[in-house]
Amino acid sequence: PLVLGIETSCDETGIGIVRGTTLLSNTIASSMDEHARYGGVVPEIAARAHLDELVPAINAAIAEAGIRLHDLDAIAVTCGPGLSGALMVGVGAAKALAVALDKPIYAVNHLVGHVGADLLHRSIHTSMTDTSDAVPLEYPTIALLVSGGHTSLLLVRDLVSDVELLGETIDDAAGEAFDKVARLLSLPYPGGPQIDRVAADGNPKAIRFPRGLSQPKDMAAHRYDFSFSGLKTSVARFVEQRQDAGEPVPAADVAASFREAVVDILLTKALAACADYGVPRLLLGGGVIANQRLRQVATERTDAAGIALRIPPLSLCTDNGAMIAALGAQLIMAGSEPSTLEFGADSTLPVDQIQV
Ligand code: ATP
Ligand code: MG
Ligand code: FE
Repeated sequence: PLVLGIETSCDETGIGIVRGTTLLSNTIASSMDEHARYGGVVPEIAARAHLDELVPAINAAIAEAGIRLHDLDAIAVTCGPGLSGALMVGVGAAKALAVALDKPIYAVNHLVGHVGADLLHRSIHTSMTDTSDAVPLEYPTIALLVSGGHTSLLLVRDLVSDVELLGETIDDAAGEAFDKVARLLSLPYPGGPQIDRVAADGNPKAIRFPRGLSQPKDMAAHRYDFSFSGLKTSVARFVEQRQDAGEPVPAADVAASFREAVVDILLTKALAACADYGVPRLLLGGGVIANQRLRQVATERTDAAGIALRIPPLSLCTDNGAMIAALGAQLIMAGSEPSTLEFGADSTLPVDQIQV
């Protein structure tokens, strides 16, 4: 089926068009620059930007795909989780389009969409080279989604019918931690790429920062959960101590040691889930997947454990409409009924609710 996907859960206005699992276009407009001076995404600004960007993005996507709106079989849209105001812009646009074109609409889960992104490119294996003829994703798989708003570990038995949340962050998201630590080091927003750059010259073993929720006492209730606020506080304390003592802050070592702690805890928990559930497959998604060290250590550890690692290209890892279209197409192919037009935006939509 030919599906147009609309994604507006955070700061990306994403419009994607797919035919089944074939990607036809993936247009992304980000309001990132407008949030930079606030050091994080401002919901009101994100929502207004979606309103400005949606129609141009839809036009660009249909032009690139070489289709007309009337050719579409369905519209898919992210209805949660995410920022309420931002979601509402996409939901409103999707409903209007569906009614005007008299097409079915599929209201879908953003996080499950991230997993669906994998369908579109036939995977990149551990070597990180594009093996476009590689086998499609097999189930079950463990999925680790890490972005500015989410840090979630999922057990995906079937994309359209069985996604289980194993764990998530109990405070900050991983990307948020990168952004906050970058600010402590006086680096600009978004912090992730900056930390990556500065860390390249640092020693990851210079400072032993804490790994959240990794003590034996945490294992019962929080085996697959994450916590990054203690790590951030620990970095803040280290920086303050140096400043108070009138000593220079070793930014490269701090960045490298912080990054190492985040990467270590993310992969330790993801691989524990693979082992516990006997699942030899790990899928990564979300904007933090751009992190160089995370990619490197993920490759090393999955190779050592005999786990197949899948990392979609970055344009499909960060928020985009193509992954939403891909999930919509899967639902159609699985025979799911369209959503009724009563659905709204649900900022806290649980991950096991794949379609609303
Ligand atoms: P959502 O959480 O809804 O997916 P988002 O817009 O917060 O939305 P993304 O756009 O996927 O998430 O990712 C942005 C986050 O990724 C930011 O927090 C940014 O700092 C982080 N990031 C980007 N590049 C890197 C990197 N190289 N290393 C670590 N973090 C990175
Ligand atoms: Mg973003
Ligand atoms: Fe996302």
